Amino acid sequence: MADSVQELKQALNITGDAMVEKSDGSVRLVGSKCSACGDWIFPPTPVCPECMSESVERRELSEIGCLYSWSVVRIAPKNWKTPFVAGYVDFPEKVRVFAHMVDIDPECLSFDMKLSVCKAVVGQDADGTQIESYSFLPAEGRN
Ligand SMILES: [Zn+2]
Repeated sequence: MADSVQELKQALNITGDAMVEKSDGSVRLVGSKCSACGDWIFPPTPVCPECMSESVERRELSEIGCLYSWSVVRIAPKNWKTPFVAGYVDFPEKVRVFAHMVDIDPECLSFDMKLSVCKAVVGQDADGTQIESYSFLPAEGRN
Protein backbone atom coordinates (compact mmCIF):
# COMPACT_ATOMS: atom_id res chain seq x y z
CA MET A 1 0.00 0.00 0.00
CA ALA A 2 2.79 2.40 0.85
CA ASP A 3 4.28 1.87 -2.58
CA SER A 4 1.01 2.70 -4.33
CA VAL A 5 0.59 5.89 -2.30
CA GLN A 6 4.13 6.91 -3.14
CA GLU A 7 3.53 6.14 -6.80
CA LEU A 8 0.35 8.21 -6.68
CA LYS A 9 2.17 11.16 -5.14
CA GLN A 10 4.86 10.91 -7.81
CA ALA A 11 2.26 10.66 -10.59
CA LEU A 12 0.51 13.77 -9.30
CA ASN A 13 3.84 15.48 -8.72
CA ILE A 14 2.67 16.78 -5.39
CA THR A 15 6.16 17.05 -4.03
CA GLY A 16 5.72 20.80 -4.26
CA ASP A 17 8.07 21.58 -7.12
CA ALA A 18 5.28 21.79 -9.73
CA MET A 19 3.28 24.52 -8.02
CA VAL A 20 3.88 27.57 -5.93
CA GLU A 21 1.54 29.28 -3.49
CA LYS A 22 1.58 33.05 -3.74
CA SER A 23 1.33 35.41 -0.80
CA ASP A 24 -2.25 36.30 -1.83
CA GLY A 25 -3.29 32.64 -1.56
CA SER A 26 -3.39 31.98 -5.28
CA VAL A 27 -1.57 29.02 -6.79
CA ARG A 28 0.48 28.90 -9.98
CA LEU A 29 1.90 25.90 -11.78
CA VAL A 30 5.65 25.81 -12.30
CA GLY A 31 7.24 24.31 -15.39
CA SER A 32 10.55 24.58 -17.17
CA LYS A 33 11.36 26.77 -20.17
CA CYS A 34 14.13 25.65 -22.49
CA SER A 35 16.37 28.50 -23.60
CA ALA A 36 17.73 26.42 -26.50
CA CYS A 37 14.48 25.57 -28.33
CA GLY A 38 11.94 27.71 -26.47
CA ASP A 39 9.68 24.83 -25.44
CA TRP A 40 7.92 24.78 -22.11
CA ILE A 41 7.77 21.57 -20.10
CA PHE A 42 5.38 20.57 -17.32
CA PRO A 43 6.15 19.35 -14.72
CA PRO A 44 9.58 21.01 -14.45
CA THR A 45 12.56 18.94 -15.58
CA PRO A 46 16.33 19.53 -15.59
CA VAL A 47 16.60 18.43 -19.25
CA CYS A 48 14.46 19.47 -22.22
CA PRO A 49 12.76 16.35 -23.64
CA GLU A 50 12.50 18.02 -27.07
CA CYS A 51 16.16 18.96 -27.70
CA MET A 52 17.96 17.41 -24.69
CA SER A 53 19.39 20.78 -23.65
CA GLU A 54 20.17 21.31 -19.99
CA SER A 55 19.61 25.06 -20.42
CA VAL A 56 16.21 25.02 -18.77
CA GLU A 57 14.93 27.27 -16.04
CA ARG A 58 11.95 27.00 -13.72
CA ARG A 59 9.19 29.42 -14.68
CA GLU A 60 5.61 29.98 -13.61
CA LEU A 61 2.91 29.16 -16.13
CA SER A 62 0.11 31.60 -16.91
CA GLU A 63 -2.62 31.97 -14.33
CA ILE A 64 -5.43 30.87 -16.65
CA GLY A 65 -5.76 27.88 -18.97
CA CYS A 66 -8.47 26.59 -21.32
CA LEU A 67 -10.32 23.32 -20.87
CA TYR A 68 -9.34 20.78 -23.54
CA SER A 69 -11.12 17.64 -22.32
CA TRP A 70 -12.65 16.18 -19.17
CA SER A 71 -14.31 13.15 -17.65
CA VAL A 72 -16.34 12.25 -14.58
CA VAL A 73 -14.47 9.56 -12.65
CA ARG A 74 -16.68 7.12 -10.75
CA ILE A 75 -14.11 4.45 -9.91
CA ALA A 76 -10.91 5.56 -8.22
CA PRO A 77 -8.21 4.32 -5.85
CA LYS A 78 -9.34 3.26 -2.39
CA ASN A 79 -10.11 6.10 0.01
CA TRP A 80 -10.87 8.55 -2.77
CA LYS A 81 -14.16 10.37 -2.79
CA THR A 82 -16.08 9.69 -5.99
CA PRO A 83 -17.37 10.83 -8.34
CA PHE A 84 -14.90 13.57 -9.22
CA VAL A 85 -14.11 15.49 -12.36
CA ALA A 86 -10.66 15.39 -13.96
CA GLY A 87 -9.47 16.90 -17.17
CA TYR A 88 -6.80 18.39 -19.37
CA VAL A 89 -6.20 22.13 -19.45
CA ASP A 90 -4.15 23.89 -22.12
CA PHE A 91 -1.97 26.81 -21.07
CA PRO A 92 -0.71 29.62 -23.32
CA GLU A 93 2.81 28.18 -22.96
CA LYS A 94 1.58 25.24 -25.05
CA VAL A 95 1.58 22.72 -22.22
CA ARG A 96 -1.39 20.49 -21.42
CA VAL A 97 -1.87 19.65 -17.73
CA PHE A 98 -4.03 16.89 -16.27
CA ALA A 99 -5.61 17.38 -12.86
CA HIS A 100 -8.73 17.19 -10.76
CA MET A 101 -11.33 19.92 -11.07
CA VAL A 102 -13.11 21.26 -7.99
CA ASP A 103 -16.16 23.43 -7.35
CA ILE A 104 -17.44 22.51 -10.74
CA ASP A 105 -20.68 21.02 -12.08
CA PRO A 106 -19.71 18.70 -14.96
CA GLU A 107 -22.93 19.69 -16.73
CA CYS A 108 -21.66 23.25 -16.92
CA LEU A 109 -18.29 22.41 -18.48
CA SER A 110 -17.56 23.46 -22.04
CA PHE A 111 -14.62 23.22 -24.38
CA ASP A 112 -12.17 26.11 -24.03
CA MET A 113 -13.76 27.46 -20.84
CA LYS A 114 -11.24 29.30 -18.70
CA LEU A 115 -9.93 27.62 -15.57
CA SER A 116 -7.49 28.73 -12.92
CA VAL A 117 -5.23 26.71 -10.65
CA CYS A 118 -5.87 26.01 -6.99
CA LYS A 119 -4.68 23.54 -4.37
CA ALA A 120 -7.23 20.94 -3.27
CA VAL A 121 -7.52 17.65 -1.42
CA VAL A 122 -7.69 14.94 -4.09
CA GLY A 123 -7.69 11.85 -1.89
CA GLN A 124 -6.28 10.34 1.25
CA ASP A 125 -3.72 7.68 1.95
CA ALA A 126 -4.25 4.47 3.94
CA ASP A 127 -3.60 6.33 7.20
CA GLY A 128 -6.27 8.89 6.41
CA THR A 129 -3.74 11.61 5.66
CA GLN A 130 -5.17 13.99 3.09
CA ILE A 131 -3.35 14.20 -0.22
CA GLU A 132 -3.28 17.68 -1.73
CA SER A 133 -2.41 18.57 -5.28
CA TYR A 134 -2.89 21.31 -7.80
CA SER A 135 -6.39 21.30 -9.25
CA PHE A 136 -8.52 23.46 -11.50
CA LEU A 137 -11.57 25.54 -10.84
CA PRO A 138 -13.62 27.92 -12.97
CA ALA A 139 -11.90 31.26 -13.51
CA GLU A 140 -14.62 33.53 -12.15
CA GLY A 141 -15.80 36.15 -14.56
CA ARG A 142 -13.28 35.17 -17.18
CA ASN A 143 -15.38 32.86 -19.33
ZN1 LIG B 1 14.70 22.39 -25.77
